[in-house]
Amino acid sequence: MKPQDGYIQYIVNPKSGASSSKRLVTQFKDYLIGKGLDVRVQFTESLSHAGELAVQGASDERCGLVAGAGGDGTLREILHGLQGTHTLFLPIPCGTENLLANELGFDLHMQTLVNTFESGCIKPLDLGMINGRCFTSIAGFGFDGSVVERISKIRTGHINHLTYFWPIWRTFWEYTFPPVTVVADGTEIFSGRGLVFAGNISHYAIGLGICKNADYGDGLLDVCIFRCHDQAHLLACAFKTALKTHLKSKNTIYLRAQSIQVSGSGEPVFCEIDGDPGPALPADIRVIPQAVRVLVPPGAKPAGIRTRLRRIIG
Ligand SMILES: [Mg+2]
Repeated sequence: MKPQDGYIQYIVNPKSGASSSKRLVTQFKDYLIGKGLDVRVQFTESLSHAGELAVQGASDERCGLVAGAGGDGTLREILHGLQGTHTLFLPIPCGTENLLANELGFDLHMQTLVNTFESGCIKPLDLGMINGRCFTSIAGFGFDGSVVERISKIRTGHINHLTYFWPIWRTFWEYTFPPVTVVADGTEIFSGRGLVFAGNISHYAIGLGICKNADYGDGLLDVCIFRCHDQAHLLACAFKTALKTHLKSKNTIYLRAQSIQVSGSGEPVFCEIDGDPGPALPADIRVIPQAVRVLVPPGAKPAGIRTRLRRIIG
């Protein structure tokens, strides 16, 4: 990108990220300015404001690129704002999990951002819609929805991985495995006690490859359902996923679809989208194929569990 290609809408969520990622946001901005580019920094005041700033950039023909610094929630709102436009997007990961940025091959190094910017490697990204709301990465129903619901009640700002420990522990012992019914492309594929995931990306929290074969640009969502009715089953599902053998299990249903409906049977089933609380059931999920164009690190792959844990521990 050259100065004559337009200005860069540099959207920053000032609340997300540890101090190291805040430094990365500033360093990369200084790098762009050093190249003679017009960088217009905009701080978000809320998630919806992030989307408004993205729309503002995309509707201005003088804007050559939208860069977004924040966690998965901020990136989701920006991408929703850019959906259907031709404006290029560059993510700058600085949240707790950075599910999407990890999937696209980003890490937290300045050199990766510079290489991405310089190489100009662009990939199309599908987006998911659930009851009219956008998601970039994954929609989960059941246990993880309950964990996110619990966290959302205590969350006040930036969270780290330790924030998840007690909510996961308490949800694990209190979860009652309410039944769900799943319809994919018009056919009922599951009805019973289980955990359901609809993924645009392959690697979930801490690098777990739940929707292992997902391709974020193929115009389809990967559906992974674990038949699971008690705590012992849940642990078995988690271990099999960590060992990457869950798709071979008779208790796992795995397929791809364009539209997915998930409904409960009266007992509340919580949903999470990209780590934030999702809509109440029934849920109607669709994919928007190749909704946005995104700059990605050339040749990079999503980091798995070992790399993610190393990054978390530091
Ligand atoms: Mg896909």
